[in-house]
Amino acid sequence: MAPEKLTGKVEYKENLAGNNYLVRIGFDKKVRFIPGQYASLKVNDEGIRRSYSVASLPNENVIDLLVDVTPLGVGSKYVLGLKVGDDVEVLAFLGRFTVDPLLLLTAKHLLFLATGTGIAPFKPMIEDLLYRKHFTNEVRLIWGMRHEKELYWLKEMDNINRDFDNFKHDIVISKPTKDWPGFVGHVDTVVNQLEQDWTETLVYLCGAPDMIVEMEMNLKDKGVPGTSIFYEKYF
Ligand SMILES: Cc1cc2nc3c(=O)[nH]c(=O)nc-3n(C[C@H](O)[C@H](O)[C@H](O)COP(=O)(O)OP(=O)(O)OC[C@H]3O[C@@H](n4cnc5c(N)ncnc54)[C@H](O)[C@@H]3O)c2cc1C
Repeated sequence: MAPEKLTGKVEYKENLAGNNYLVRIGFDKKVRFIPGQYASLKVNDEGIRRSYSVASLPNENVIDLLVDVTPLGVGSKYVLGLKVGDDVEVLAFLGRFTVDPLLLLTAKHLLFLATGTGIAPFKPMIEDLLYRKHFTNEVRLIWGMRHEKELYWLKEMDNINRDFDNFKHDIVISKPTKDWPGFVGHVDTVVNQLEQDWTETLVYLCGAPDMIVEMEMNLKDKGVPGTSIFYEKYF
């Protein structure tokens, strides 16, 4: 469907952890999109826009956005200032960073690699695959963050783990405290420990452009075909 200008209202806003905010926008009609797509939010009166992946499943008339306000640019400041009840304008829905159902017929492994809020589109993409499409082969999420105090959605990921044996997730922290019990480093730290048939793996990458460029090379070296690598760069 062609993107359209939609006016919505902020229904809910929460500081999830660190500089990461969840903003729920309600519309007066049902909105249709494919998990993985993004909305372009108007962030000032001059019509400047910033892109934010939809962080929720298609579900009637609301969408969630997950925003890291660390850059403190015009988009971050706009989101920081938003209050419940405010009107917002989005151009939606955009992007082709979605899972092609035809590829699921042959894929043995689906690997989702995120840094920071790059996890935003992965939550609905993974929930859609498991709860709605009943995909039964391996789905693995690896999420890289700088500090453990910035983590969120841990319960949500544990719930998916509880519901599906074929879902696994790992978190890797690049600047951990001494008490962090998990992986230390970047997403490649975990990816390099995986043993699987890389030629039968679909990989979705989202977040920092540097991670995406490096991981694309790394994955191709392992044998993942270029046509099986998909990415959304947050620049
Ligand atoms: C398709 C797409 C989807 C996106 N989805 C999301 C999303 O779901 N959640 C989200 O938080 N962001 C997302 N982004 C990034 C978002 O659109 C903005 O680029 C980002 O929030 C910065 O906007 P800003 O106006 O605050 O900063 P800007 O005014 O654009 O930049 C301010 C300064 O911060 C630097 N900067 C820009 N981005 C970052 C960053 N990520 N980390 C550190 N420094 C940075 C810039 O180089 C500049 O110096 C997405 C980007 C794209 C292209």
